[in-house]
Amino acid sequence: MKKKKIAFITGIVVAVVFLGGIATYVYVFKNNHSASEIKDGVTDTQSSWNTDTHHIAAGNGGYYYTQYDADGKIRLYYTQVENENGVVLCALPECTHKTDACRAVLSGEAYQFGTVYYYKDFLYVIHKKEGMGYLCKIDSDGSGREDVCALFAMDKFSSVSLVFHENDIYAYDSVGNAGGSENHVQEIKKISIGDYTVSTVYEYSGVGAAITGARDFGGYLYFIVMEYRLDMDSKTHYADERLYRYDYGNGIAEKVIDKQVSDYFVLGDTLVYFESGTGLYVYDFKTQKETLEVQADKNILVAGISYDGQYFYLDNAGMGSMTDAASRIERVIYVYDRSFNLIREIDCGKDCTGVYFGDEKYLFIKQLDTICYIKKEDILNAEWVQLK
Ligand SMILES: [Zn+2]
Repeated sequence: MKKKKIAFITGIVVAVVFLGGIATYVYVFKNNHSASEIKDGVTDTQSSWNTDTHHIAAGNGGYYYTQYDADGKIRLYYTQVENENGVVLCALPECTHKTDACRAVLSGEAYQFGTVYYYKDFLYVIHKKEGMGYLCKIDSDGSGREDVCALFAMDKFSSVSLVFHENDIYAYDSVGNAGGSENHVQEIKKISIGDYTVSTVYEYSGVGAAITGARDFGGYLYFIVMEYRLDMDSKTHYADERLYRYDYGNGIAEKVIDKQVSDYFVLGDTLVYFESGTGLYVYDFKTQKETLEVQADKNILVAGISYDGQYFYLDNAGMGSMTDAASRIERVIYVYDRSFNLIREIDCGKDCTGVYFGDEKYLFIKQLDTICYIKKEDILNAEWVQLK
C-alpha cells in the first residue's frame, strides 16, 4: 500500500511540479530591452528547459539524452537531431554497449532515472549509492565518469534537480517530502565547480514540502516552495506553491509572489507567472504592477512555462482538476506570441510522459519511452517526430 501510495503521489507531484509554461511581457518588447535580455531563456544556463524533468540537455552543438532501451537498460546518447541516429555515448574500445561496463549505461538502480544535465563541457547525472545521492560528472565524450560530491540522502522516489550559475551548481530534491504528513527540512545546496565543495544556501521547513522548478535568471536563483498534501481516501489533494528567489550576491532568499504559482519565467524586469486556477500574469518588478494576460479555463488550470526568444510555451500538465488528483485531460502545449495571442495548440498525445520544452531550435517531449521533437522553425504546423 505504501509503495502504491508513494508511486501515485510521485506521479501527481511530477505533474504538479512540472507545469511549465510560458509567457513574457509585452512591455519587455515595448521598452526596447536589449536582445540579450530577451534571450535570457536560451543562455548556457538553459533556463528555457524544464529543470525537474531533464532527460535531454543541449551541449556541444547537439543534444545529450537518455533512453530506456529494449533490454531494460538506460543509456546515454548524443544526437544532432535531424536526419541521423543518436550515437551511444561510450568511448571504450570494442565495447558492445550491452553490459553495465559500457560507459553509456546508466543503470536505473544506481542512477536517478534518466536525468542528465550539461554545463561547461561536462555532463552531470545523479548517482545513487547506499541511500545517498552523489553528483556524478561525465566527460562529454563519455570517456570518464566520477562522483564529485555527496548531495542528499535519497530514497527511490527522490529526484534531484540541478541549476547552473557561473562557477556553481545548485541542487535540490524536487519531490522532497511532497505528499508526506510530517515536518521535514528541504534544502538548496550549492556546489563549487572545481573543488566540488558543498554548502547549504537555503532551508525550508514544512509539512509535505518540496522545492521545485528552480531556474537561473538575472542574478537570482528562482524556485517554488511547494507544500503538497494528499487525502488518499477522497483522492483529493492540496498544493500550495509560492515563488521565491535567492540572491547570489548577498545570499538572501525572499518570497516574490505570494500566490499559487505553478510556473514562471523571467525576462529582464518582467516576471511572467501562472497562478493556478486563475491564469497567466505579467508582473513588472519596477512598478510592481501586473496584468492578467491569459485566463485559466478547464483546459489549462495550471501551466508550465517556457520562452525561446520568440514564443511562449504553456504546458497544461494534463491536469483536469485543481482538487481531484486523478482527473486527467489531454496534455497540450499552447504556443503564444509575444503579445499573448494564441497561435497554436500542440497535442502531446495520450502517451506523453513528460514535457522538456527546449531551446530556440527544438521543442521536446517524451511519449512513452521515446523523446520527440518539433522544429521551432516549423512551430506553426509541424507534428512530433521521434528521435532515432
Ligand atoms: Zn559501450
